[in-house]
Amino acid sequence: MSNVPDPSFPANIPALGQPVDELALAEIKSAILGKLRLAIGKDAGMATRHDWYKAAALALRDRIVHHWLTAEKQSYDAGSKRVYYLSLEFLIGRLFTDALNNMGLLKVFEAALGDLGVGLEDLRKCEPDAALGNGGLGRLAACFMESMATLAIPAIGYGIRYDFGLFRQIIAQGWQQEYPDEWLSFGNPWEFQRPEVVYHVHFGGGVEHVERKGGDLAIWHPAETVQAVAFDTPIVGWRGQHVNALRLWSARSPDPLKLDVFNTGDYLGASAEEARAESICKFLYPNDESAAGRELRLRQEYFFVSASLQDLIKRHLSSDGQLRNLASKVAVQLNDTHPSLAVTELMRILVDLHHFRWDEAWKIAVATLSYTNHTLLPEALETWPVELFQRLLPRHLEIIYRINVAHLAQAEERCPGDVDFRASVSLIDEKAGRRVRMGQLAFVGSHSINGVSAMHSDLMKETVFHDLNHLYPGRINNKTNGITFRRWLMLANPKLTDLLREACGEAVLDDPSRLEHLEALASDSALQQKFRTVKHHNKIALARLIGERLNVMVDPGALFDVQIKRIHEYKRQLLNIVETVALYQAMKDDPKRDWVPRVKIFAGKAAASYRYAKLIIKLINDVADIVNNDPAIGGRLKVAFLADYNVSLAEVIIPAADLSEQISTAGMEASGTGNMKLALNGALTIGTLDGANIEIRDHVGAENIAIFGMEAMDVVVRRKQGLDATDVIRRSPNLSRAINAIGSGEFSPGDPGRFESIAHALRYLDHYMVCADFDSYYEAQRGIDARWQVVPAWTRASILNVARMPWFSSDRTIREYARDIWNVPVRGTAPHGLQETGAQRGATR
Ligand SMILES: *Cc1c(COP(=O)(O)O)cnc(C)c1O
Repeated sequence: MSNVPDPSFPANIPALGQPVDELALAEIKSAILGKLRLAIGKDAGMATRHDWYKAAALALRDRIVHHWLTAEKQSYDAGSKRVYYLSLEFLIGRLFTDALNNMGLLKVFEAALGDLGVGLEDLRKCEPDAALGNGGLGRLAACFMESMATLAIPAIGYGIRYDFGLFRQIIAQGWQQEYPDEWLSFGNPWEFQRPEVVYHVHFGGGVEHVERKGGDLAIWHPAETVQAVAFDTPIVGWRGQHVNALRLWSARSPDPLKLDVFNTGDYLGASAEEARAESICKFLYPNDESAAGRELRLRQEYFFVSASLQDLIKRHLSSDGQLRNLASKVAVQLNDTHPSLAVTELMRILVDLHHFRWDEAWKIAVATLSYTNHTLLPEALETWPVELFQRLLPRHLEIIYRINVAHLAQAEERCPGDVDFRASVSLIDEKAGRRVRMGQLAFVGSHSINGVSAMHSDLMKETVFHDLNHLYPGRINNKTNGITFRRWLMLANPKLTDLLREACGEAVLDDPSRLEHLEALASDSALQQKFRTVKHHNKIALARLIGERLNVMVDPGALFDVQIKRIHEYKRQLLNIVETVALYQAMKDDPKRDWVPRVKIFAGKAAASYRYAKLIIKLINDVADIVNNDPAIGGRLKVAFLADYNVSLAEVIIPAADLSEQISTAGMEASGTGNMKLALNGALTIGTLDGANIEIRDHVGAENIAIFGMEAMDVVVRRKQGLDATDVIRRSPNLSRAINAIGSGEFSPGDPGRFESIAHALRYLDHYMVCADFDSYYEAQRGIDARWQVVPAWTRASILNVARMPWFSSDRTIREYARDIWNVPVRGTAPHGLQETGAQRGATR
């Protein structure tokens, strides 16, 4: 069961201190120069940094492609089962050093580029982030793609190639502004356009029914057709052995230019259809963007689902020649409800196009599909007006109705006469003006429905899917999220990685369970010193970034307190900033006390239409302005809001964090993955018992995490009693004074009413329990202050956090999906101790 690298692996990471191979170095240099001349068309003398980046990326890509084609041929020859991961979001970030690292070529490329007079680090920064996602859900898809390649699971990720990713955030006078994210403007060296892989995706029109051999045949006559064109990006697994494709679809019109119209002088009209088609892949909708472009969003969902299913069906038919065995060769994972239309589209393909009997088709569909739920918030569960469906996807609506008939009959059988039960499980919400429920559709059409942390999966059974779970028992299961250690440890924190190689042995790179070796060393003063040196180095780098971007000087010796994630009320950045205000006021009251110096670091985007979240950003920045410039507190408190949070910024902040803020209202965060990244890099967590925080506590031990606040059930109870918080505010002088200061304009002297709405909501509409949890949070923070001052104990807890995180590797998560849901083999045996499942959680420590 050893996971020690096979010596035949092409990618050998040079052991610490080992020089790079001279032959390989010469070969890489000449490959880069070759690309510069022949693919970019430039000489070394005239090349820009960007040209060098592209040449290096292309030289690397060549090396990846060989492995890719080999892997592809092997799985085809072996007739292996394939996994298809459908996701409207892939938050990839940069690929250059990620691919270099996984190919084991980081050191040799660095040396080759150095010889050519360019710095790898400079080139790395030329690559724009591929920000095709909002946050955790999209980043999970990216980590999963990397882990599936690492575990040699033949897989394809399907999504949309948005021309513009999530907006670029600029902070102007403290306010968020949104600008288009032009990530493709310099081209994209990673992707291969596949002009021959084109599918037609239809919309609108009507359905004709004809009698055929004792059955009814539906023929959809669509009104509009869009073409989907494939773009493939290779995703390399660790040590370069296996490569999978991320296939993103771009939309275009089959009839891009009407020449006759053009010739009449109507230039815009001539390309109107092209514009309409292309709007589908124009940009990624931010979460929480409610009314805007709803119809376009549904078009996006159907567009990528239809193209992806056509593609996988074609591949299956070419290898197997039939669809009857689809489920034995194909597993389709739906990442949230956005690809729920896969249920109806697969039924349409099987019944309408391949003439399967309905019942047989249904068995195949359910056995093939599985669905991951990411939220319990009712407002975030997608529904679409029936009327819109009728107009855009008339045949799919018929299919939904037919599924619903059988489904409701089953419900009636299960709970005879129970009208409420039937209404609750129905695919159609009859109360809300007749809407199609995508969560219900995905649930009914899947053999597996999983939540993303133990608590979330439990709550799913008790809340949103309570009745569906009763009707289809055994389908709900848990797969606690994970993160890829290659990106979030090795790449983001090379200094810590080197220390871990030294302390745990080289095999730690392949088998994270080796981090256990740290346990015995956690109190060792030599190791502690080295560990602190690494953290300090990372904090200097972040302090420099804060200085450059915000012109705020922070002391790398201070406690770096980090909250980085989408800005949302349930994530409670507001709780953090109210506590910051209270701390500031306490410091001013008693400036002589030995206050622990802190830097509060925030980053995150608010959906453009989410006004309250944008006001919270402004509040953070206004508080920063006052606090950072108040000489009375002697620089012991600083607040920094870093703009444009994305994967690359996360890679700089996370290795420098001392404290990780995971303070969502209990019951509202499905899992979180930022919490895992930060703990893996040695930050202590201050958090609520929510999402994966609970499992993190179980693993790192209750003494190495600071838990505070209400639990999910307390929140339910308190909300029932009302949202008025005047009672708790009256009992808490710290809180009361902080809210008064915010509400009366102490932080917005030029516009004293600016934050009145926030103060009002805190007092009377405390839905997110900011006030109800405040005292407990404030106290936990002061506990952190006390712990910080005992350096060896703090370092020990920090080391133990790292040592006890291996279970949170996305390799472990993917092994569980492979074993429990997809039924596909994975490379290697699970290293000892990493296959424990949620059922055993709590048994640890
Ligand atoms: C990990 C990650 C997230 C998710 O963070 P949470 O704290 O789990 O919400 C969001 N955005 C980026 C860029 C990430 O890397």
